Amino acid sequence: MIKNIKGTKDLLPNSTYDLQDIENHLIRFLHIHGYGEIRTPIFETTELFSRSVGENTDIVNKEMYTWEDQNGQSLTLRPEMTASVVRAYVQKQIWKIEPISKFYYIGPLFRRERPQKGRLRQFHQFGIEAIGSQNPEQDAEVISIAYNIYKMFGVEDLSIKVNSLGSNNIREKFAKDLKNSILKFKSVLSESELYRLEKNPLRILDTKNNEIKKIIRDNAPNISDYISTEDKNHFKSVLEILDDMGIPYTHDDFLVRGLDYYNKTVFEVISNKLGGQDALCGGGRYDKLISQLGGSDIPAMGFAAGVERLMIAMNLEHNQTTNTDIYIVNTESSLISQAMIIADDIRKNLGVAVYVDTLRRSLKSQLRHANKMNSKFSIILDSNTSNENTVSIKSMEENTQEEIDINNIISYFESK
Ligand code: AMP
Repeated sequence: MIKNIKGTKDLLPNSTYDLQDIENHLIRFLHIHGYGEIRTPIFETTELFSRSVGENTDIVNKEMYTWEDQNGQSLTLRPEMTASVVRAYVQKQIWKIEPISKFYYIGPLFRRERPQKGRLRQFHQFGIEAIGSQNPEQDAEVISIAYNIYKMFGVEDLSIKVNSLGSNNIREKFAKDLKNSILKFKSVLSESELYRLEKNPLRILDTKNNEIKKIIRDNAPNISDYISTEDKNHFKSVLEILDDMGIPYTHDDFLVRGLDYYNKTVFEVISNKLGGQDALCGGGRYDKLISQLGGSDIPAMGFAAGVERLMIAMNLEHNQTTNTDIYIVNTESSLISQAMIIADDIRKNLGVAVYVDTLRRSLKSQLRHANKMNSKFSIILDSNTSNENTVSIKSMEENTQEEIDINNIISYFESK
């Protein structure tokens, strides 16, 4: 038997319906906040990600689906969205048209991670990118949008962690001091942690190992001691605006993000409902990425959020059958065309969901199916009523049945 690839998922209709519902809410929410959808290709040149996400990140090092095209060009299935959005922004020189651009996206991403609950190899993200403003109000807007989205979906046990990484020029000194402080505890570090510390010391702050977490808390330098006064003031203003807006947060000195391009404000929204993979969403500033990819010197701020993790947090992991409003039971195969015509007529006039049985099942099993589909009404066609030009309509909720003229079906449901 051919199976789906590990870490990918087939969505059956009910889960797809939930996903569409989430997407519709997101689209509306982001539209009324002034963000417009951007759609970029699913694959890009590999160089885009190695140059933006960073050569020594987990994503670029070991998680990308990369292959060589027939002409020898290296291509990659996108493992994140910001790089693609910035690539499109730079390519179209959008800063020449508008001083600030606000984009949102929803779509699939690909990372070759070890699959577990909430961690897939093909997953979906929605996110926003606000490109053009360096001001703290932009940071606060992006963070508050992320928070309010989870509020809208009724996610409980939410918290926001924020931190400032300062500007890129302090990174090298901080990374060196961090590395030296942790290297003193070399014996407890695994080979991969040592490798991380060597290649990209900030990544050690993301460790899930409690022993190392404690070593970090007790010994690592604090990045806020390295940050310039100007960047400190920027961060202070962000927090003040969040306070004024009533957005709750905690300042976590050890929060860093897994991608190289972040600077100044970084944040994560987490939910205790999620277990091990507790991050719902993460984001921050990336003021140098646009110029790094060939554009002008334009600041930006955004976040990316996992759709599957949102669905877990909303308890939407189920696979039921599709629902319908009206179920047409046809007890004789000769009545199928009449059933289809009635169904189309109702759909066209009333815009409700109508289901027609095509299995030639018994009356009893069709009614059972109608119940399973949460149908409110069943229309029963049989040869007796058909000869009389009538149908029986059964209210599934009230368990009552009445016979009406076939020409009055629409007006019957209009009055319901
Ligand atoms: P990142 O792009 O790594 O900052 O991730 C942003 C968000 O995407 C995370 O907070 C998760 O909600 C989600 N996410 C990241 N990686 C995965 C994955 N492998 N499977 C499912 N969701 C993911």
